[in-house]
Amino acid sequence: MTVQAYAAFNASDPLAPFHFETRELAPNDVQIEILYCGVCHSDLHSVRNEWGGAHYPLVPGHEIVGRVSAVGDKVTTFKAGDLAGVGCMVDSCGACHNCDADLEQFCAHGFTGTYNGRDKRAPELNDGYTFGGYAQQIVVDESFVLRVSDQLPLEGVAPLLCAGITTYSPLRHLGVSKGHKVGVVGLGGLGHMAVKLAAAFGAEVTMISTSPSKEADARKLGAQHFALSNDADTMQRLQGHFDVIVDTVSAPHDMAALLGLLATDGTLVTLGVPPEPMQIPAGSLIFGRKRILGSLIGGIRETQEMLDFCAEHKITADVEVIPIDQINTAYARMLKGDVHYRFVIDNASLAKA
Ligand code: NAP
Ligand code: ZN
Repeated sequence: MTVQAYAAFNASDPLAPFHFETRELAPNDVQIEILYCGVCHSDLHSVRNEWGGAHYPLVPGHEIVGRVSAVGDKVTTFKAGDLAGVGCMVDSCGACHNCDADLEQFCAHGFTGTYNGRDKRAPELNDGYTFGGYAQQIVVDESFVLRVSDQLPLEGVAPLLCAGITTYSPLRHLGVSKGHKVGVVGLGGLGHMAVKLAAAFGAEVTMISTSPSKEADARKLGAQHFALSNDADTMQRLQGHFDVIVDTVSAPHDMAALLGLLATDGTLVTLGVPPEPMQIPAGSLIFGRKRILGSLIGGIRETQEMLDFCAEHKITADVEVIPIDQINTAYARMLKGDVHYRFVIDNASLAKA
């Protein structure tokens, strides 16, 4: 099937219309008509080849919700008409110790990314690379398709597939709950979900931001406190304060300053992936026995658990819905931190692309 999409053709030009062929449905495949796709800062890093490895044309998008349009004859969990979600992964080996432990994101052979991934299922198509959610349809093996509630606004559900699980997973891993003091750094897509989820788990949440204009929103999202990271007095006052800090900043920044805000045995969760390495003086860790915990999205089972938790607690992302032809403007605004708090593409707009 030929589908309309938007792609990057190199690391610097704006994204532009593109079309491609989806694969024939294999027995376990689910074909999804994409209704909404969130715009993650990882899309921008990838399109601009900031991490290396970009293969063009590149169709980004890994926060996908839609309606099942067809299924292969062995599919048991979905039927045409069902709502469905797809996150950052569409495949993994399924046999290694990490896949066995529902940690497909750490598959020993590497998971297949929803976009810019080497497609083992259809190596003959599209140069053998996967294409993501800035498109009308996607075909995915059913074991990587999530069930989505019909009780929530779908445009607000889409960002849960990456921003939601990426913040849910480390908060759960650390057992964040009532009595914990949690700082969230960077109020963008991931940051606003971290605030909502940490608050839902009962923690006392402080938003740590560079943008004074975001204070009122941070409080509405569930933060009890707001701190400006570029204000020396505030940073001094918060020394040794937090049990957990969730760092979602997309650009190089002062990690040692954040470590200083942790209490003894505190954990800095590093989620952002700035293109350049950052310096961590040993002293900022050894004084107070502090640790840094990396975390990458979450496994499929945990992603479903997160979606079910969000449905039960009526948690969705705060979004600004855009037609696809505004994607380049959205990227420019995201780079300035002008995002409230996730851009989401209305994929119906692709019909006119
Ligand atoms: P986003 O919506 O653009 O938000 C990032 C926020 O960081 C900005 O809104 C801004 O918040 C703050 N910020 C930006 N530049 C800064 C700077 N130079 N210094 C201090 N603060 C700055 O991005 P996102 O979609 O949430 O993604 C955030 C990062 O996480 C990206 O690097 C992305 O690739 C990565 N990511 C990782 C995973 C994972 O599995 N680990 C998953 C998805 C995304 P304020 O205005 O509040 O300061
Ligand atoms: Zn993402």
